Amino acid sequence: MSVSEAKVVANIQTGPLVDPFGNTRDDCAVIALKHVTREYAGHGGAVRALEDATFSIVAGEWVAITGPSGSGKSTLVNLIGCLDRPTAGELKIDNVDTAAMSATELDRFRADKIGFIFQQFHLIPYLSALENVMLAQYFHSMTDESEAKAALERVGLGDRVSHLPSELSGGEQQRVCIARALINNPPILLADEPTGNLDAANQKIVAELLQDLHRNIRL
Ligand code: ADP
Ligand code: MG
Repeated sequence: MSVSEAKVVANIQTGPLVDPFGNTRDDCAVIALKHVTREYAGHGGAVRALEDATFSIVAGEWVAITGPSGSGKSTLVNLIGCLDRPTAGELKIDNVDTAAMSATELDRFRADKIGFIFQQFHLIPYLSALENVMLAQYFHSMTDESEAKAALERVGLGDRVSHLPSELSGGEQQRVCIARALINNPPILLADEPTGNLDAANQKIVAELLQDLHRNIRL
């Protein structure tokens, strides 16, 4: 399937932006892609999963990437999240060209800049909701139980902190993931089909929670 079918939809500011200081959209970009391509060397021949993506996202924007299955959405999110590198083109996050970084530098950069929410929650099954959030603090810098609790309260799970993932509904598990993604205050939050595994009622709860967070903390 051709990847050009994936569409980038920004629902706040789209098109050219010139602020009162004369900065253009590209000057202000937190995420900037120029002719970014990602090819995979698959067993059945090379797959061009993302082809010539050029766009920028500025601070405070809420952007959705839409397209059919296989159109390159996860590939794009993984590139922006520095989990992967382009095979061609230029990708800048906060004006830094990630191609120039070593793997260790990129790990640190990702930990500071990006929060991730995945469709498959990726919670550690034998850790409580609280411990799952604290683990993210531990990998970033150091744990702080009261901050982790406050993050769970912010997503409406103050009374579920000691529950294991298996003792939580899908919607609750995804809310733990949102608390985990935000615990280290990343400037960028990436979500790959965050409501894909949820029923309609929980889709609504999670989508509204993400929108509230965006409004309140200007992710
Ligand atoms: P989406 O998230 O929009 O469903 P993906 O970004 O996961 O799409 O995949 C885009 C294309 O790249 C698909 O055709 C998929 O088969 C292919 N692809 C994804 N990951 C790999 C990989 N690791 N190796 C080979 N091909 C891949
Ligand atoms: Mg995908």
